[in-house]
Amino acid sequence: MARVAIVTGGTRGIGEAISVALRDQGVTVAANYAGNDERARDFTERTGIAAFKWNVADYDACQDGVARVADELGPVDALVNNAGITRDGTIMKLSYEMWREVIDTNLGGCFNMAKAVFPGMRDRKWGRIVNIGSINGQAGQYGQVNYAAAKSGIHGFTKALSQEGARAGITVNAIAPGYIDTDMVAAVPADVLEKIVAKIPVGRLGQAQEIARGVAFLCSEDAGFVTGSTLSINGGQHMY
Ligand code: NDP
Repeated sequence: MARVAIVTGGTRGIGEAISVALRDQGVTVAANYAGNDERARDFTERTGIAAFKWNVADYDACQDGVARVADELGPVDALVNNAGITRDGTIMKLSYEMWREVIDTNLGGCFNMAKAVFPGMRDRKWGRIVNIGSINGQAGQYGQVNYAAAKSGIHGFTKALSQEGARAGITVNAIAPGYIDTDMVAAVPADVLEKIVAKIPVGRLGQAQEIARGVAFLCSEDAGFVTGSTLSINGGQHMY
């Protein structure tokens, strides 16, 4: 029987590419999203992949969402924690709400989702969890103390959880993308983006599919000996 995967934030951007790459690998995919119903409907029409709406920052909603996916598609074998937001500003301008929202979504979402899928994976002795970190969690970024802290936390979360899953056949890895051509990066002012691209050794933004292929490998049967790792996919921007 086909494996079942949940991709959070799986209906657009990097998440959409991940959902499609997993589907092409024979996985039954549930693409989660937060509120953009129109994009989700369009995504399902184009790809045939089912979309499920819940907020990953909401602990109970994650429990319910995973139960709904299991009812409709089967027990969850793989989780890709991809949902993420930015609320940028220097510490002088960053409000408590901007801090909380990013921490609760980007890092809290990983915990909420892992709590919901881990027991079933452990019982079935097989699981794949891939967390999407960021180059800015590795290196820090001006104006992003909230985002960099959450993403940096993801890398620690990955290493710790991988130790807990190892004996149960559950691998836990992270991917740290560099700058990828999505809506999130489209929100960066053009002059700032030009300076960012100038610092990328390969001389361009990454494509969502280039992250998705890495995720597809980490979710495959072949990747059973890879755990606790962070794969940096960033055009050579930082050599970690
Ligand atoms: P996008 O902004 O293009 O898409 C974000 C997705 O996450 C959407 O599907 C959105 O749903 C969903 N989402 C947001 N908040 C929630 C929530 N609370 N609950 C459930 N789903 C939610 O992002 P990208 O594709 O650019 O980024 C994907 C991931 O990659 C993020 O974690 C990001 O931090 C990371 N990343 C991106 C980089 C880049 O250059 N783009 C670089 C490094 C890391 P909806 O459509 O309903 O809003």
